[in-house]
Amino acid sequence: MSPILGNLHAMQFNFQLPLARIAQSAYDWKAIALGLTAASSVFETLILIKQLPNYSKPAPPPSLKDHFPPDTYAKSQSYGRAKALFTLAKGAWGVLEGGLSLYFDLFAWSWGAAAGVLTYFGYGGDREIAQSIIFAGILTLISTVTALPWDYYYAFVLEEAHGFNKMTRLTFVTDLLKSFLVGAAFGVPFLAAFLGIIRHFGQSFVYYLMGFLLAFQLILVVLYPLVIQPLFNKLTPLEVGSSLRTRIEGLASRLRFPLKHLYQIDGSKRSSHSNAYFYGLPWSKHIVIFDTLIAQSSDEEVEAVLAHELGHWSMSHPTKLLLINQVHVFLLLSSFPPFLTSRTFLPSFGFPALPADAPFTRTAPILPTFLLFQLLLQPIEHVMQFAMNAVTRAFEYQADAFAVGLGGDFRQRLADALTKLHVKNLSTLHVDWLYSAYHYSHPTLPERLKAMDKLEAKKDEKKEL
Ligand SMILES: [Zn+2]
Repeated sequence: MSPILGNLHAMQFNFQLPLARIAQSAYDWKAIALGLTAASSVFETLILIKQLPNYSKPAPPPSLKDHFPPDTYAKSQSYGRAKALFTLAKGAWGVLEGGLSLYFDLFAWSWGAAAGVLTYFGYGGDREIAQSIIFAGILTLISTVTALPWDYYYAFVLEEAHGFNKMTRLTFVTDLLKSFLVGAAFGVPFLAAFLGIIRHFGQSFVYYLMGFLLAFQLILVVLYPLVIQPLFNKLTPLEVGSSLRTRIEGLASRLRFPLKHLYQIDGSKRSSHSNAYFYGLPWSKHIVIFDTLIAQSSDEEVEAVLAHELGHWSMSHPTKLLLINQVHVFLLLSSFPPFLTSRTFLPSFGFPALPADAPFTRTAPILPTFLLFQLLLQPIEHVMQFAMNAVTRAFEYQADAFAVGLGGDFRQRLADALTKLHVKNLSTLHVDWLYSAYHYSHPTLPERLKAMDKLEAKKDEKKEL
């Protein structure tokens, strides 16, 4: 075993031992999961309530005053308030739904129902993977149905009222069906492999599973633009020779960005919110620009937005995020095995206990254990969210600095573009610090403008020396 793997292994062992003791204890796991779900909801609600008064402030922040005339400001405040209240109501529903399904042992019921389906079709014996797939199907169906009224309200009432919804009801329904099919096409083999690896490798599954997860993500990067995205959106190559295309190609070649495809996407089919992004393998990248962004901004501004995006690429931000994510997944998966062999965990949620003479290595059903185990991690996940937002914000500042560093009038163009997008999207203007730290992966616009001004001031200082 390599020294790195050896160290990881020792570390894993160190925290699995106390965890094993905890997992075997006769705690009331169901009460703990219910308590953590409730506590987590109270925490999120308090953060949101702390933010609410910001939607009643009478005037925009000084730095954005010129861009928000009174009626635009009023629209932005009312849009922000509507979204916050929606989140509040949906959160309350979520905790009620989660609480009820725990209280009434929905997981155990679905697990039994999945076994019933198998028996009905004449398949008996131990078919954990097939049973898990049906189990996951039942849970997905339930959560899709209960989420439906919320999704419908969000698109056709909330977004509609503020002028952002461009989706027809037909698109809404076909999107739902397509997502379900895509989810099944990728989810079923994924789940089968995921469970197969854990079953096959026993307690030492973690490394194999991580290798598989990484490979699966890479496959998705390749397949997403080829197979999935065309189902939902139309990508049109930007017209060769158009001034915007020439500009972006110039920028890419100046930065040695391996631009392979440059598309415009019909985001306007669903919403008038705007965006741009890149993705792909290291040697072949795609840039995708929303038609709404092109319609709302000048060519110079779109170029500045892409300069920021290519800053992320140049500083390997996606790779760094992927690495952080791997560590997160490693810790998650490593703390899971003790619960698989626990004799108290699943029975607490209404599952039948393993027979008393079952060998110690006999594991509980993997998927229900994994899903319920994650409920215990909610407090850690909240902390993780603060930490991840801190990282992505630092990346945003770096990408802005990268664009500004390209010289010329890039700073002005980026500032104009971001401000314009903020106005068009009616983005929130006053943000509570705690709300921002928990919910915002990006710094607020005034924060970004201030940081860019500082960079410019520094540059001027250097010139004078
Ligand atoms: Zn960014």
